[in-house]
Amino acid sequence: MPPPLGDMPAAEFRRHGHELIEWIADYFERIDELPVLAQVEPGELKSQLPSSPPEKGESMEAILADVDRLILPALTHWSHPSFFAYFATSTSAPGIFGELLSAAFDTKALNWRAAPAATELEDVTLDWLRQMMGLPQTFGAIIYDTASVSTLHALAAARENLSLRIREDGMSGRPNLPLLRVYTSEHAHSVVDKAAMTLGLGQRSVLKITADAEFRMDPAALSRAIQDDREKGFLPFAVVATVGTTSTSSIDPISAIADICGQEKLWLHIDAAYAGSAAIVPELRHLFNGCERADSFTLNPHKWLFTPFDLSVLFCRQMEILHRAFSLVIEVLRTSDAERNTVINHSEYGIQLGRRFRALKLWMIIRYFGHEGLAARIREHVRLAKLFASWVEESPEWDLMAPVPFALVCFRAGGSQSGEAGKQVDILNETIMHAVNATGKAFLSHTKLNDKLVLRLSIGNIRTTEAHVRRVWELLNEQLRRLQAEAPLNQ
Ligand code: PLP
Repeated sequence: MPPPLGDMPAAEFRRHGHELIEWIADYFERIDELPVLAQVEPGELKSQLPSSPPEKGESMEAILADVDRLILPALTHWSHPSFFAYFATSTSAPGIFGELLSAAFDTKALNWRAAPAATELEDVTLDWLRQMMGLPQTFGAIIYDTASVSTLHALAAARENLSLRIREDGMSGRPNLPLLRVYTSEHAHSVVDKAAMTLGLGQRSVLKITADAEFRMDPAALSRAIQDDREKGFLPFAVVATVGTTSTSSIDPISAIADICGQEKLWLHIDAAYAGSAAIVPELRHLFNGCERADSFTLNPHKWLFTPFDLSVLFCRQMEILHRAFSLVIEVLRTSDAERNTVINHSEYGIQLGRRFRALKLWMIIRYFGHEGLAARIREHVRLAKLFASWVEESPEWDLMAPVPFALVCFRAGGSQSGEAGKQVDILNETIMHAVNATGKAFLSHTKLNDKLVLRLSIGNIRTTEAHVRRVWELLNEQLRRLQAEAPLNQ
């Protein structure tokens, strides 16, 4: 008998669907007891999986049993409330439901006709987000997958704005084209370099501007660099400023940078991938002063707006330039002029043709929690980070290494000396971090500031409470005391 055709029978889908939701609910209920960091060695999972695909279909029971037995132990749990590494993020129940429905609809938003709901919901949801963030009505918006891709599109639009026919003629083989320059701070994310690499501008086009003692771009140095470049015959075209840098969450002086961009006629893009969500909290809005003057602005709801990965938003003041850079409609997708003039086809604003129905999850999240509920959760994370920072400041053994404008704390034990003694302190901190992470009870990461190793504690998970933050503080101190007892630093 040949195997039956068609999808899983409805009754079976219902049964496993209910079971899976039960499984996920249990997972969240017991997640606190699971080790945050996967306790596996490289290659361990691969060695337990068959190297060739099954000839015959298997039962969902067998597949889900392997999720429990093999996949779960190899997970680092991003949804764990004691995940404090990188930028802590989390999914949320309405977001999971949004993903589930989106997978069922399996929409490919090639154009409006192929996906009216995805297209119009994206516009409405992003306009809600714009209003929640207090951005001006002049901003249009679009969803991409990640900030890497949002930045790429922002810089592509900035380049198109030069009207150098780069879309048509490219950049290679054009000796008359000067070196194009984009300026960003030495603390900017590598997404700026990667966008320049991908757009054929090359890393040589990215000039890193020095930062001040609080890790913010120095506007005077930016002005000088632009003048220098003009004297050399280069063509400055864009500045990428950051609100919430990756290492320390520092905030570039946006108003001063916007003044320079205005005078020099440069495209101003703001990378607020991490911190952008905090603009929905009224008392934090002032940290974004000047952003209303930007040409484009990125935030990642998948970072701090409880949205399952992935969903990044690009706000852009001149959507028509993005359209000019990317619109290319093949015959198969051509619709009547009348329709084309009344609808938006998002695929004409980016490199992707088929687009996922990402707006659905964000729409469900905003409706379920409301502006007030989302702001309250972010506000609590900021309170917890400032509380942790106050413990660091009060402790004679720990030092705060950067200001805490949002919910990220940079700190280290053993003093902030440099030189040989500083290297020993680096080793001490790295050892503390690995020891805490090895307990499975919390997960932290590090950065380097002024050549010193610094620990980072990021709070952004929807389940994180004060108890979790107190617990990681205890763990850090336990490890510090243990290491000091083994090898005091001053010997
Ligand atoms: N920009 C900043 C400031 C970030 O912190 C990050 C990631 O942490 C990114 C960009 C890259 O984000 P994505 O992973 O969405 O590309």
